Amino acid sequence: MKPFITKYFFLFFISITSYAQNHNTYYQSVVDNVSASNILADLTSFENFGTKRVGTTALTNTENWITSRYQNLGYTDIELQPFSYNRGTSNNIIVTKTGTVYPNTYIIIDAHYDTLNGPGTNDNGSGTVLLLELARLLKDVNTEYSIKFVHFSGEEDGLIGSQYYVDNTVSPQNLDIRLVFNIDQVGGVSNQTNNSITCEEDRSSPTGNNSASSAMTSILANCIELYSNLTTQLSYAYGSDYVPFQYNGEVITGLYEANESQYSHTASDVLSNMDPNYLYEVTKGSLGALLEFAVSSETLSISQNDKETFKLYPNPSSNGIVYLSSNASLNNSSIKIYDVLGKEVFSKSNLQNLERLHLKKLQKGVYIAVIKNKHTSITKKLILN
Ligand SMILES: [Zn+2]
Repeated sequence: MKPFITKYFFLFFISITSYAQNHNTYYQSVVDNVSASNILADLTSFENFGTKRVGTTALTNTENWITSRYQNLGYTDIELQPFSYNRGTSNNIIVTKTGTVYPNTYIIIDAHYDTLNGPGTNDNGSGTVLLLELARLLKDVNTEYSIKFVHFSGEEDGLIGSQYYVDNTVSPQNLDIRLVFNIDQVGGVSNQTNNSITCEEDRSSPTGNNSASSAMTSILANCIELYSNLTTQLSYAYGSDYVPFQYNGEVITGLYEANESQYSHTASDVLSNMDPNYLYEVTKGSLGALLEFAVSSETLSISQNDKETFKLYPNPSSNGIVYLSSNASLNNSSIKIYDVLGKEVFSKSNLQNLERLHLKKLQKGVYIAVIKNKHTSITKKLILN
């Protein structure tokens, strides 16, 4: 089973990366502001709160610290979602940044902040601090999609906070989630060469969301390599807060350290056993990926004359008819469509200014459309239902 999967993902990977997500100088300019000293200071603060099991004062103090950090950054949509179980009551912290084009469609980036048997500076102070740094740098950056920064509690007792959120917010509100991006234990191991990160995709049931997860995970891996000095490896998602979302049919991806700490869930899960420079690199790659997933609008204004004027709609399409339009002429443009294995399944050149694409012969699923003219190439995800 495993060699089969690896082979197909390899094929997908080489074909998609040769078209998708070119290095974006605007995204790079945001990523350049990731601060190694902020990350180190925040990890130290997190560690100093002590063991953060649900029911402890340490966890409440950490919750207050995280919440006040968002307030100080100027975020105003900060929700505490309480839930209770036999260990006590705790809060998920949900901070929303509203998108400019799709305010009701969300990229959720999440990390748990509760710990077991120790300060949990790696598991999951690392993810907690990464979210804080991304929130700092994205505060005044416009994104097309809304972003929710979610700090879950109760993860260590069985994904209790994230399950509660799915059951009590996502399902009843029918929340429109484009992607759940989970960060758990990305702090590296001291005295090891930490130069790779594991990107996790959904390979479990239900399977209807798996191909979209693998497409998003490929974008994640590509962005990590574009905006950090890390290499990436692909594996499957399990045992963290994306799981309740996956069961609910959402599209998920995640990050986990490639060199795995032996100290998680012990009193030795501390900064001195980690590699903070690794977390700095993971943070840079994650920020590049989040800008890509949420689509930064600054890019739109910079390149208004070319690439972002293409529109592909309806998307998703339910009848196999998709229109392509552009503010500029499409005369010298072409479109190619690839399936998730990277195979070209459709191609057309010399397009009309409002081009009607007949895609009825294609199977239902997720595709990658690459639209080119002489100036630029743009990649869009296309869903046929
Ligand atoms: Zn964890």
